[in-house]
Amino acid sequence: NGRVLFNSYPTGYPEPGKTAVYDTTETIDLDTVSLNGGFLLKTLDISIDPYLRGRMVQPTTSSYSSSWEIGQVINSHAVGIVLRSENSDVKVGDHIVGMLEHKQYSVIKSLEGLRVIDNPSKLPWSAFVGVLGMPGQTAFMAWREYSSAKKGETVFVSTGAGSVGSLVIQLAKLDGLKVIASAGSDEKVQFMKEVGADVAFNYKTTKTEEVLVKEGPIDIYWDNVGGETLEAAIDAAKLNARFIECGMISAYNTGYSFPIRNFFQIIGKSLTFHGFVIGRLVAKWGAEFYKTIPPLVASGQIKFKEHIYKGLEADGDVLLAVQKGTNNGKAIVHVADE
Ligand code: NDP
Repeated sequence: NGRVLFNSYPTGYPEPGKTAVYDTTETIDLDTVSLNGGFLLKTLDISIDPYLRGRMVQPTTSSYSSSWEIGQVINSHAVGIVLRSENSDVKVGDHIVGMLEHKQYSVIKSLEGLRVIDNPSKLPWSAFVGVLGMPGQTAFMAWREYSSAKKGETVFVSTGAGSVGSLVIQLAKLDGLKVIASAGSDEKVQFMKEVGADVAFNYKTTKTEEVLVKEGPIDIYWDNVGGETLEAAIDAAKLNARFIECGMISAYNTGYSFPIRNFFQIIGKSLTFHGFVIGRLVAKWGAEFYKTIPPLVASGQIKFKEHIYKGLEADGDVLLAVQKGTNNGKAIVHVADE
């Protein structure tokens, strides 16, 4: 039974084969393993998310998510299929989504914190940890909660080719905004144009502040990166602009420190900063998310892109890939077919 163990706290980027290690010392007999009233799940697709870097920090560091302990099986959002069940809420063949351990097979006690997936449109199961899962919810719920978007306004979205950013672009276009979006490769720039960005640029070859001077000023900034990009957005902000503080990935691997040069402008420009953690918005917005987004995805009106890495052995490499930006779309570790 392959699984991935957290092995050491990285100081910079996660190191494949060192930070998280693939382990095969656990054996499991699928026919006889004791379920104790629970169910046996076969993992299909695992989501590798940027925030997982915050789980690789010493427990004393100020991350908003709890740190992994050395030696524990790492976990994140994933989808699996039920192989055996002694739990009346769960049937063999059901697909389950939620926080799961990075294991090929898991025995799970109850559905607490997990959900049986309803998939009438036969979307790929991986979508339930991407556009229809936590990243999709992040984009939809925080956009609805904090953007106060008005037709004709201008928004800047960083990391616009990722699972969160690409949905933000599309929601902003549906609301009638002008969208400026940045990402780290020309291929990603192409994808941002395909999903509707009016202005899309590669921040590695074009200066963000120059684009914002030319195409701004901005009413809303959707921040996925922090650092100099956030500073450029503050400089380009209009009076009363809204900042949706979703992530600050530019500093996740360089000491987890987040200084901002020009924060003083928050006063003179009357800026509003909305920081959030998605779990806290689900109770309010969950029903509307499931009513709105799955049909738009099923009809193709909302597009999404996945980068599928094959096999649980790839886990450590993908933890690095999302931090480096070599993923091109929602990073998924495909563990097994059904
Ligand atoms: P992505 O699929 O977009 O992957 C992360 C991307 O970040 C990389 O592909 C890379 O894209 C970009 N990146 C990496 N390093 C840098 C850097 N130094 N400067 C600028 N960009 C960088 O991830 P998601 O869509 O899943 O997540 C996007 C953001 O949303 C993250 O910051 C994440 O932490 C945050 N988030 C926050 C949540 C919340 O509750 N607040 C919930 C979910 C996500 P590129 O090639 O463009 O550089």
